[in-house]
Amino acid sequence: LFSAVEMAPRDPILGLNEQFNADTNPNKVNLGVGVYFDDNGKLPLLQCVQAAEKTMMEKPTARGYLPIDGIVAYDNAVKGLVFGVDSEPVTSGRVATVQAIGGTGGLKIGADFLKKLNPAAKVLISDPSWENHRALFTNAGFTVDSYAYFDAAANGGKGGVNFDGMLSSLNAAAAGTVVVLHACCHNPTGYDITPEQWDQVIAVVKAKNLTPFLDMAYQGFGYGIAEDGAVIQKFVAAGLNFFVSTSFSKSFSLYGERVGGLSVLCKDKEEAGRVLSQLKIVIRTNYSNPPTHGGAVVAAVLNNPELRALWEKELGEMRVRIKAMRQKLVDGLKAAGVKQDMSFITTQIGMFSYSGLSKDQMVRLRSEFGVYGTDTGRMCVAALNSKNIDYVCQAIAKVI
Ligand code: PMP
Repeated sequence: LFSAVEMAPRDPILGLNEQFNADTNPNKVNLGVGVYFDDNGKLPLLQCVQAAEKTMMEKPTARGYLPIDGIVAYDNAVKGLVFGVDSEPVTSGRVATVQAIGGTGGLKIGADFLKKLNPAAKVLISDPSWENHRALFTNAGFTVDSYAYFDAAANGGKGGVNFDGMLSSLNAAAAGTVVVLHACCHNPTGYDITPEQWDQVIAVVKAKNLTPFLDMAYQGFGYGIAEDGAVIQKFVAAGLNFFVSTSFSKSFSLYGERVGGLSVLCKDKEEAGRVLSQLKIVIRTNYSNPPTHGGAVVAAVLNNPELRALWEKELGEMRVRIKAMRQKLVDGLKAAGVKQDMSFITTQIGMFSYSGLSKDQMVRLRSEFGVYGTDTGRMCVAALNSKNIDYVCQAIAKVI
C-alpha cells in the first residue's frame, strides 16, 4: 500500500529545530522558530494564564464536546479584540466568528470555505510570506501566486517594502482573487506598510473587487492591541467584507494549546448567520469541534477585567523587551566592529528581523557558532536575551 509513498521534504523551520537540538555547542542560540522567550531564555507561562487556570482548577469541570464553532464567550472575546467590543460590526451582529485550532486553523477554515465559495479564484500571498501560507492554500485546492513585498535593494540597500511593486501586483489581480495580508508584524521580514499605504492597498482591493484575508497572528506585538487592530478598522470603514484569522499562540504564550479563530465580516446579521453555518460544516467535517482548555483559558482572561489588564501588561512587557533587544542588537553589532549601518533592525516590527545576511553567512552562523536562523536571513529577535546577545553580535560580526 505504501511502497510508492515518497519521503516529503522536512519542514524548513522544524527541521532547523531538530538540527539545533542535536547541536552540542554549549553557546548555541535558536533564532529560527518564531517563539518568544523571556530574558532567561525560557518560554513564559503568563501570570494571567496561571491565574485563570488556578480558578478553573478550583472548580474542575467535565469536558463535554464544545459547540462546533467553539466557546461562545471565546468567540465574543475574539470579535471584541479584532473589531472592538462596541464597534458597529460587533453590535450589529454581522461578524461570523469561530474558535479555531491556532491561527493556522483559522486560515485553513477560511481557505476551505473560500474554495467552496469561489473555486476558480487565485490566492496571492506576499513575497516572501510565512512559509505555511503557500502550502496551506495550495492544499485547500488554490493556485497560489505572490504579490511583490520585500525588496532587498530598497532604502539604499538596507531592504524594505517594494510598495509600488505591491500595488501593481494587486492592481493586476483578477476580481475575486484572495489576497492574504499580514495585519501587523510581517513574518518573515519585520517590515509593515504604513497607515497611508494601507489606505492605498484598501483602495485597490475595493476597486478591483479582491477578497482580503487578513492574517493577524501578532496582535499586540507591534504597537499595542488597538494600534495593531487599526488596520482592521480601516477595512471596516472602507465597507469591505473580509476574513481575519487570529492567533493567541504568541500573545498568550499558549503555542501548544492551539488557540486561534476566524472572523468573517459580512454584509449584515442574516448573511453572517449563513456564513457561520458554512464555516461550521468545514469544521464538522475536519475535526468536529475544537478542544476545550486553551479556549477556556483565553476566554477567562479576556472576559475578566483584572486578568485582561494583567494580560495587556504582560503582552506589553514582551513587546517592549523585543524592542529593547532590537536596539541592543544594533548597538552590539556596532561595538563588535560591524561597519555597515544596521539601524534598520529597529525600524522592523514584531518578532522577526530580516537581517540582510546571505545564505552562506547564515550557514556559517550555524556551523561555526551554533546561531540558528533561516537561510533567508530571518532571525527571531524575540529569542535574544541579555545573556546571549553579545555572543550573537560577535558571531554575526565575524560572518559579516
Ligand atoms: N500566520 C503567521 C504569519 C504566523 O507567523 C503564524 C505562526 N508562526 C501563524 C499564522 C500560525 O499561528 P498558530 O501557531 O497559532 O497556528
